[in-house]
Amino acid sequence: MDYDVVVIGGGLAGLQTTRLLAMRGLKVLCLDQNLIGEVIAVTGLFVQEAFEELPFPRHLFGDDISRFTIHAPGGNTLTVEHPHYRFSVADMPAVLDWMAREARHAGAEIRERHRLMDLKLTDSGVELLVQYPGGEPFTLETRFVLGADGPRSVVAASLGLPRYRRFLHGVEELRAADVREGEGIHWYFGRKLAPGYLAWVIPAAGGYQVGVAGHQRSGWSPARALDGLIDRITDEYGLGALVFRRGGVIPSRGPRPVLVKQRVMLVGDAAGLVSPLTAGGIHYVLQHARRAAYLVCRYLETDDPKLFRRPLPPELRRRLILKQAVRTVYETFSYDWMVNLGMTIVPAVLKTRFVRRAFYGSSRYVIRTWKPIQEEESRDPGDETGRVPGE
Ligand SMILES: Cc1cc2nc3c(=O)[nH]c(=O)nc-3n(C[C@H](O)[C@H](O)[C@H](O)COP(=O)(O)OP(=O)(O)OC[C@H]3O[C@@H](n4cnc5c(N)ncnc54)[C@H](O)[C@@H]3O)c2cc1C
Repeated sequence: MDYDVVVIGGGLAGLQTTRLLAMRGLKVLCLDQNLIGEVIAVTGLFVQEAFEELPFPRHLFGDDISRFTIHAPGGNTLTVEHPHYRFSVADMPAVLDWMAREARHAGAEIRERHRLMDLKLTDSGVELLVQYPGGEPFTLETRFVLGADGPRSVVAASLGLPRYRRFLHGVEELRAADVREGEGIHWYFGRKLAPGYLAWVIPAAGGYQVGVAGHQRSGWSPARALDGLIDRITDEYGLGALVFRRGGVIPSRGPRPVLVKQRVMLVGDAAGLVSPLTAGGIHYVLQHARRAAYLVCRYLETDDPKLFRRPLPPELRRRLILKQAVRTVYETFSYDWMVNLGMTIVPAVLKTRFVRRAFYGSSRYVIRTWKPIQEEESRDPGDETGRVPGE
């Protein structure tokens, strides 16, 4: 056998599993068809919990973001802020480069520009057919394969697993701009703009990341929708020159039904590990990578296939099922008039004394949570920040 584990894909899922397996002393190879960080599809919006999975260096991220604004199709907006919760926008090539260095430091081998063409299950492991540009295809043998090769997984296809069919299609641009002080995230809703999902404007280094994602349907294209949005908001955000445009697909139906076949396991987007509600995958992908590394390591020690009965952490599975149910409700009822109505009612209701008490607590006990704010409201924290008095 050439390796204990070969990981296909050097994205977040692949590099995290590679590092964790190498740290356990296994002989690990990670293959990616591109240079690491060369082709990026992800916006790079990290939720706070992602930092519990891996202590990413803070300098690879922009300023913390603690407020977001929802824009209804009719133009109503609702801005909320959290006293403690933070989003962070990553410099994704730098993050992946750092993860690759950490994996190599742990003892793993990473081969870039190596593409998996096919794989075959054998009695003792897996045989891989691999190619690099200009080279002849060659084979590798390994005891186990982790397919971290993204939403259109070649590993899953080679195993004959049913094709994942329900994707969100997303495209985004970085536009140069002077980012406004204390700027938050903006989410735009509307069936015409982003059917089944949303559009976003996110402050980033040197400008704003503006993107759109939705379900492909006749008459809608993400590229056209993005062009329309940019035309609409250019003056408002002072958008300038195009820095880059990128895009990709996001699995939107939750995990695949089968994640493991003999000595092959899918992880990350290849496994459909994206929140069906928010379409955010980074935190789940990292969580799943930890679980996958643990299971593979134990399996190689024990040869016990029963370990793979629960390839997802149970609490993650429950959360994904719940989010899937909420998404189904949203897709069924997300008519623009309903979103507009909701956006008229919710801010008014949230301002009433009764609801404020129920949600944000009395003066003696304050729950730290998202709080609606007026755009013109002072950013001075005061006692409206949700801090417990005397803290
Ligand atoms: C436009 C867009 C924006 C997004 N924004 C966010 C966000 O802001 N926050 C968030 O939480 N989630 C976001 N997501 C979801 C997020 O991208 C993913 O959940 C996460 O990045 C997936 O990581 P991954 O490693 O599983 O897959 P990927 O990042 O897709 O990595 C797969 C890797 O496998 C390699 N590969 C593929 N096939 C082969 C092959 N045959 N041989 C060798 N290598 C191969 C690819 O080159 C790639 O490097 C976004 C998705 C899209 C499409």
